[in-house]
Amino acid sequence: MGTTLSGDDVVRLRISDVQSETADCVSLVFDVPADHEDRFRYAAGQYLTLRVTVAGVEHRRCYSMSSSPALAEPLRITVKRDPGGVVSNWINDTVVAGAEIHAEAPQGRFVLDSSDRDIVAFAGGSGITPVFSLIRTALATTGRRVRLFYANRSADSVIFAGVLRGIAEEYGDRIAVHHHLDSEHGVVTPTALRTFLAGVGDAEYFVCGPTLFMDAVEATLRDSKVPAAQVHLERFVAATPVDAAPAAGDEVTDQVIIELDRRTTTADYRSGNTLLQTARMAGLKAPSSCETGSCGTCIAQVTEGAARMLNNNALDDDEVADGWVLTCQAMPTTKTVRIVYE
Ligand SMILES: Cc1cc2nc3c(=O)[nH]c(=O)nc-3n(C[C@H](O)[C@H](O)[C@H](O)COP(=O)(O)OP(=O)(O)OC[C@H]3O[C@@H](n4cnc5c(N)ncnc54)[C@H](O)[C@@H]3O)c2cc1C
Repeated sequence: MGTTLSGDDVVRLRISDVQSETADCVSLVFDVPADHEDRFRYAAGQYLTLRVTVAGVEHRRCYSMSSSPALAEPLRITVKRDPGGVVSNWINDTVVAGAEIHAEAPQGRFVLDSSDRDIVAFAGGSGITPVFSLIRTALATTGRRVRLFYANRSADSVIFAGVLRGIAEEYGDRIAVHHHLDSEHGVVTPTALRTFLAGVGDAEYFVCGPTLFMDAVEATLRDSKVPAAQVHLERFVAATPVDAAPAAGDEVTDQVIIELDRRTTTADYRSGNTLLQTARMAGLKAPSSCETGSCGTCIAQVTEGAARMLNNNALDDDEVADGWVLTCQAMPTTKTVRIVYE
């Protein structure tokens, strides 16, 4: 039975199965109780935010669903060890079937677009997780063709290798999977990416993987004149933060006016706080998740004044130009700032 923690959107979910994927990666399968099925409905490519307590300290981490909502399979996430990381190693080392874990409802914007263009996906390491859900969903629910470039260090670190082989047999020429192994070809180069892209027509591109891999793919797509609106990125890590100190020309902020859930609140601004922190200090339950500028859960639109983001791995240039900010990363830079949550 899932239990909602008081006044919060966190539910305790039972783990029905723990599946070993590779030597350093497991999948957790969740039982979603009937009374929480609506809350845990998700789109392919979205993620859960887990809240786990390790050695007495609570941590929040995002993990994308590797299951497909279109295939009537139970909710599943897939977690790869991050060397030195707290939560991913705790999950790989200690979580067993029958255990319970606190999770927030699914969120995320790395989801299928509504076009019927072919899909070209680039995944590196654990970045396969949301991509696996996206491509299996697209194959099952649309007629779109899929091409996957999947990079890993070596053959034994390829997550979902067997299922991908099965999908290739099932869907024939609707899917092409290209495995890139660093152990055989060295790290992914622009030349390798360009070779893979040769002959690809109009498509939607989905990219998820380590920072350097994503940077290489992004640059290659840009050089190939792929429209930015057709490139969908999911970053698992935050970029190096820029300086949070006020820049020359920034005004001293007095107040932040926040429109959330049809209520308008005027909050006093305390120097050094982000817009999200300001909303919380005013007693508001503003949406947030990764708090690293990666997931996009906390977006709001600046409709008066201005704000500067420390990190932005979620919004594209057009959204920023329209005034959207990641409130967890946004420092106000004018005397008054008004923000409106979606
Ligand atoms: C939207 C989203 C979806 C995601 N989906 C997935 C997924 O499907 N699968 C998956 O495996 N991961 C996913 N991630 C990544 C995941 O959320 C975690 O970031 C990852 O598991 C690492 O967490 P951790 O607690 O193990 O590491 P952390 O403890 O957060 O450490 C991360 C890294 O920082 C280093 N580090 C920590 N503290 C210090 C310090 N003081 N000095 C120097 N270095 C330090 C650690 O050594 C480690 O390498 C996703 C992230 C996002 C934002």
